[in-house]
Amino acid sequence: MTSSLHATPSASSTLAVEARHLVKRYGDLEVLRDVSLEVPEGSVTSIIGASGSGKSTLLRCLNLLERPNLGELAIADEAIRFDRTPQGDVVGLDRRQLQRLRAKVSMVFQQFNLWPHFTVLGNVTEAPMRVKGLSRRRANALAEHYLERVGMADKRDSYPAYLSGGQQQRVAIARALAMEPRLLLFDEPTSALDPERVSEVLSVIRGLADEGRTMVLVTHEMAFARDVSDQVVFLDRGVVGVAGTPQDVFEDSEHERCRHFVAPAV
Ligand code: ADP
Ligand code: MG
Repeated sequence: MTSSLHATPSASSTLAVEARHLVKRYGDLEVLRDVSLEVPEGSVTSIIGASGSGKSTLLRCLNLLERPNLGELAIADEAIRFDRTPQGDVVGLDRRQLQRLRAKVSMVFQQFNLWPHFTVLGNVTEAPMRVKGLSRRRANALAEHYLERVGMADKRDSYPAYLSGGQQQRVAIARALAMEPRLLLFDEPTSALDPERVSEVLSVIRGLADEGRTMVLVTHEMAFARDVSDQVVFLDRGVVGVAGTPQDVFEDSEHERCRHFVAPAV
């Protein structure tokens, strides 16, 4: 970020994510069709929409697990433009830029994806040591801090198989936090949990929102999305059907499919 006496118009609201005209295809299937999204620093965006509408694909594009075919993406101050050469190769990504960009983003998955052969502590320290080159001592300290934060410090020596789904997901959140990312992505973090385990994970996410973390959350928990979000995006067959405040999307939208989709929550 530049700082100068002559502030630019955008300087007052820094964007953590600026996605412009993203297109993602799998063969003939165009899954994202011209999706644009802005996420201000320190805000929470929820993405809602029917199964197959492209929510996971959009999240995976934001951390470059998938490469968009077209469009522009800026995460914090790292900007990339995706395009095709006449030969069909994707341009706009060199490896070091990809690594820098990935280091700014952490993702939490529906199925937790903990490493089964590592303890809780090992799960949280692995990436800080391997990707960021932290010493074991520093990585342990960081892990203890974030395990405490999610209420899992007393399980540091347990293996994932001995934890409930809610506990595993809280460890996965600590693992994401230990990378100290600029942006946290959640892809249906409570969808694989028993109903009585959902609230312990949602309350951790709410706590992170309250401390001003920048987050993009795909969820079917409509009441939670309405409550915790600064912005809600209704994704509809690969395009942004409606985007706005929770009020705009859950109450005032005139978009037919959006109204239908959110109806049970209203
Ligand atoms: P959502 O998360 O909203 O349910 P997804 O982003 O997972 O939607 O999928 C959107 C569409 O893209 C679906 O039709 C799905 O089958 C398709 N799709 C997702 N990933 C792949 C892939 N790796 N290869 C081919 N098709 C895919
Ligand atoms: Mg999905």
